[in-house]
Amino acid sequence: METYTKIAELKSRLAELKMKEGKTIGFVPTMGALHQGHLSLLSLCKSTCDITLASIFVNPTQFNDKADYQRYPRTPENDGEMLKSAGCDIIFVPGEEEIYPEKDSRIFDFGKLDKVMEGKFRPGHFNGVAQVVSRLFDIVNPDKSFFGQKDFQQVCIIKNMVRQLNLSVEIVVAPTVREPDGLAMSSRNMLLTKNQRIEAAKISQALLYAREHAFKTPVNELAGEVIRRINSSPELEVEYLEIVDAGDLQAVSGWDDAGEIFACVAVHAGKIRLIDNVQLK
Ligand code: AMP
Repeated sequence: METYTKIAELKSRLAELKMKEGKTIGFVPTMGALHQGHLSLLSLCKSTCDITLASIFVNPTQFNDKADYQRYPRTPENDGEMLKSAGCDIIFVPGEEEIYPEKDSRIFDFGKLDKVMEGKFRPGHFNGVAQVVSRLFDIVNPDKSFFGQKDFQQVCIIKNMVRQLNLSVEIVVAPTVREPDGLAMSSRNMLLTKNQRIEAAKISQALLYAREHAFKTPVNELAGEVIRRINSSPELEVEYLEIVDAGDLQAVSGWDDAGEIFACVAVHAGKIRLIDNVQLK
């Protein structure tokens, strides 16, 4: 496995692989503290691209809460070992000055997409995501890039950004990988206390309940019941639960309002914020 920290060196290596050797490049951007969810993206990448490149960069511009940025887990040695044993070909681990030699003042317009859910409760978050992913795409120029369904709204934003910037990268979405008790894997899970971690299983259980009872129950009633089930734990507090049209992420009021419908949730467990989603239709 080759490791790069400098853009210029990575670019010249990629030029060699693409131009001289005709290799296709698959790209998995991450913020590190890797788990099986990340590795599932990597293995999908490996199965469809010649070269698998992962990046690790905890992007400051997507954190609207400074404390959240500071407490975000960083496990570089373990990440390196995991990527190596997963057969990653190249890792890119840039410093902040490499990605942002100057302040990035670009403002993206995602219309209605970033006014709801994560965008509403984490102002500026998706603008930061778009800043870093567009920079990484510009550096790597991948044939395909792999993202997790767990960050459902992020996938919509990235696809929209790719269309806006007219990029040729194909965005591939991989299903959410879960712990045995159903909790969606997340780098933040390691920050939970033992009891929060046990109780956090209620989030996916409530979403499963939503999947079983969709269509049989009015949308608003079902939303209320999902919130009630999660909040029944003293460790958990729902920030939002939205039942949305997968196309424009706007809340639906009836089951016939959209072709594809998702339930998306953000939950506070103490200082830690967890998100999850499930497709209902
Ligand atoms: P992060 O390091 O949290 O920024 O995540 C990097 C990529 O891994 C994103 O595309 C995430 O959506 C994806 N990802 C994170 N958790 C999971 C999971 N449990 N299952 C599948 N993909 C995931």
